[in-house]
Amino acid sequence: MEQPVFRAVFYSLTAVSLALMVWQFLAPARLWMKGRPIRWRPNYIGNVAKYVLGQFKVQGSRPKSGAPMHLLIFYGFLALLLATTLLAVATYGPLVGIPNFHHGTYYLVYETVFDACGLLFLAGVTWAFVRRLSFDRRWGRPGVSQETGKPVFSLNPLTTETKDYIALLILFMLGSTGFLLEAARIANRPQTWDWCSPVGRWLAGLFPALPDGAYIGVWWFHYAWVFSFFAFLPQMRLKHIVTATMTVAGSEERPLGELVPISMKEVEETGQIGVTMATDFSRWHLLSLDACMSCGRCTEVCPAYNVGKILNPKQVIADVHEALVTNESVATRVGEEALWACTTCNACVEACPVLIRHVDLIVDTRRNLIAEGKLSGSGATMLRQVGSTGNSWGTPASSREDWMKGLEVPLAREGAPFEYLFWVGCAGATDPGAVKTTRAVTQLMLKAGVSFACLGHEETCTGDSARRLGDEFTFQALAEANIETFKRYGVRKVVTPCPHCLNTLKNEYGQFGAELEVVHHTQLLADLVRQGRLEPAEPGAGKVTYHDPCYLARVNNESDAPRSLVGQESNLNFTTTALVQEIVKEPEGATVLAEPEHRGRKTLCCGAGGGRMWMDEEPGKRPSERRVRELLDTGAGTIAVACPFCRIMLDASVKQFDDSIRLVDLAEMLQEANA
Ligand code: SF4
Ligand code: SF4
Repeated sequence: MEQPVFRAVFYSLTAVSLALMVWQFLAPARLWMKGRPIRWRPNYIGNVAKYVLGQFKVQGSRPKSGAPMHLLIFYGFLALLLATTLLAVATYGPLVGIPNFHHGTYYLVYETVFDACGLLFLAGVTWAFVRRLSFDRRWGRPGVSQETGKPVFSLNPLTTETKDYIALLILFMLGSTGFLLEAARIANRPQTWDWCSPVGRWLAGLFPALPDGAYIGVWWFHYAWVFSFFAFLPQMRLKHIVTATMTVAGSEERPLGELVPISMKEVEETGQIGVTMATDFSRWHLLSLDACMSCGRCTEVCPAYNVGKILNPKQVIADVHEALVTNESVATRVGEEALWACTTCNACVEACPVLIRHVDLIVDTRRNLIAEGKLSGSGATMLRQVGSTGNSWGTPASSREDWMKGLEVPLAREGAPFEYLFWVGCAGATDPGAVKTTRAVTQLMLKAGVSFACLGHEETCTGDSARRLGDEFTFQALAEANIETFKRYGVRKVVTPCPHCLNTLKNEYGQFGAELEVVHHTQLLADLVRQGRLEPAEPGAGKVTYHDPCYLARVNNESDAPRSLVGQESNLNFTTTALVQEIVKEPEGATVLAEPEHRGRKTLCCGAGGGRMWMDEEPGKRPSERRVRELLDTGAGTIAVACPFCRIMLDASVKQFDDSIRLVDLAEMLQEANA
């Protein structure tokens, strides 16, 4: 590109393609700015370092999610970008006093390393192409029915449009024409150091006799793809290079299980509760809609979608986006049935590589539906019950102490000082199965000499289900009443057998002034065993499988302590190795923990969260049935649980499959060894 006219054309085309790209982003940016201002201070640099440069979420995804393919494309692309930048600095640097460093050993390393990176990039792009093609073959593509003219839904979690193939073609051409350019240079002017560009040298060997102007032709051909890349980027899934980076950079550091409160002041100012139109979401939430690249990771893990319900988290994002563009009501566009089907298990949020918060979008829309009186049936009955009695089951406060019969349970109102408040929860005080857990935990704490007390009839529901169903003000009333009680008794530490209560007390009560240290019963019990204050469990010979509750394992990152109670070696930072070794060394009657496919943070929801436990389920579409089938596939005769909600849901399904299977809380197993 020696001649001034070529330079002028090149710079003009570069400017035009970049301007085209920016111009196309302006329209969506105007829509994002219609949202509510964000209320948090993002850690821009930390977020970009972790989630963009480090590809933290992508690296943590399931092996079949296409993660290695994305890593090849991403790091390959980044390397090529770096190579082009270094070349530009070497070329234009002398104009501003930077000497041209593009020679010598540096040049040899540059050529060798970036040649290899270019190959890896092309391998990733080819992989992506083949992957999309195979998904399309297996599942089919969405389209429009020729009979009805309506869109045809596809079960393909990786739905592909023609422009996705065009995007891959552009990427492929960017990489391959770069090699062609190198080959043309080698064919025209071979050098002794060309061995460090093996791909270019090999290609050059394929067409040794190039006419004089060929190099310039190949050069323009390569840059035609570079210009196309910039000019068409906002129209393609590739736009996530920009939008996902912005979304990740601006994301909020908030626990997975924490929902954002609505204030009465806000309701008075806006005259509405929750979200009606997409512009009621924050600007960040609206931007995040454009960061979605329809990868389908969220859909693949959604327990509702996987049992054939209408809810499809990827589609929710597309629908909210459509509602934003068309100015339609969010609930109408997404569909109420889909909105109520969510268990708020957060599997989608955990899986999303660009940190989209599906649960925020769903719960905020539910809040408006609740305010409009759109929830009926058993879910609405539960909300009325919890509002009037403080118990989701609707039993009176006086019955909260029925489970204590025959036990010496210390009560806070008796006035003795205590270390832990034992938070029982509605299920733990009411449901017959969950009561067994409550009693076992109590007996174990008494035996180990733990200083604790219960609130008895002074305890009310934490409001978890009400909040996740969208009844924010019932939740807030319950939270404020409980926090008053905590203050009265100076409560600082809480132990609870319910992961839903744990999440709400630990991650959400702080919004209303509570300062609590909250642990799950398995965490406390594992600690007591480690200290020698309790005997380890003796579950007997045979296989035990453990079902990780979403709100313990995924949402609150605890999968280690429960496993330690059945002899599974700890691989997280909760140190229980001594106990584990003791059990594992036992030759006779040792327990084998048979792990299901979905475990730890990637556990599969039982279907109870988000208020779904109180809602009717169509037979054959129960997430608990799918989960039980998977647990039974391990060949275990005992299913261990650590959540009263999971216990209720799995119990109903276990009975359908195999009556001989034992379903038991880990605390009961431990209690049997300590009776
Ligand atoms: S929401 Fe996230 S996980 Fe789901 S399709 Fe979009 S980018 Fe993928
Ligand atoms: S939270 Fe769970 S149930 Fe709800 S959309 Fe996400 S994956 Fe599906």
